[in-house]
Amino acid sequence: MKKIGVLALQGAVDEHIQMIESVGALPFKVKRSSDLDGLDGLVLPGGESTTMRKIMKRYDLMEPIRAFSKEGKAIFGTCAGLVLLSKEIEGGEESLGLIDATAIRNGFGRQKESFEAELNVEAFGESAFEAIFIRAPYLIEPSNEVAVLATVENRIVAAKQTNILVTAFHPELTNDNRWMNYFLEKMV
Ligand code: GLN
Repeated sequence: MKKIGVLALQGAVDEHIQMIESVGALPFKVKRSSDLDGLDGLVLPGGESTTMRKIMKRYDLMEPIRAFSKEGKAIFGTCAGLVLLSKEIEGGEESLGLIDATAIRNGFGRQKESFEAELNVEAFGESAFEAIFIRAPYLIEPSNEVAVLATVENRIVAAKQTNILVTAFHPELTNDNRWMNYFLEKMV
């Protein structure tokens, strides 16, 4: 069974744990760098990227997560996780720099604090994915290394690069486990 960690400092942790179980993998909560040992993949959940970064720095997790990725292990970031994984964050906050694009935080504006959108995702075939966005970011300026997997109003809301998968929305808040399944089958 593949072992998938969920960074459990802040944010939507338990929902991801259930998603991981639902695709037949073994979930683990990650709170310190030694928790990464032996994992096959890692999820960075949604929440508040500024808070999450602070706690990650306090627990010296930034470098170990970068090293985990350099070893070829897969990482899936949702919402705040997308922000933290991006190469740059508009406004200049520090990020992990693992996906070659810039994140625009809260990119859909105040009038759209949260919304749902049907996404057509080539890898999922005909049936649309009902995505839940909460103060969602999006990506701009992806390099050629980045594959765009879904857009809303021409904004990039799902993408991957080698072993990094990001969504601006929250698949863990639905009953549709296709993103976690994709992560597990294609990337881990
Ligand atoms: N807007 C938040 C941030 O930039 C992300 C929101 C979320 O994860 N639901 O950190």
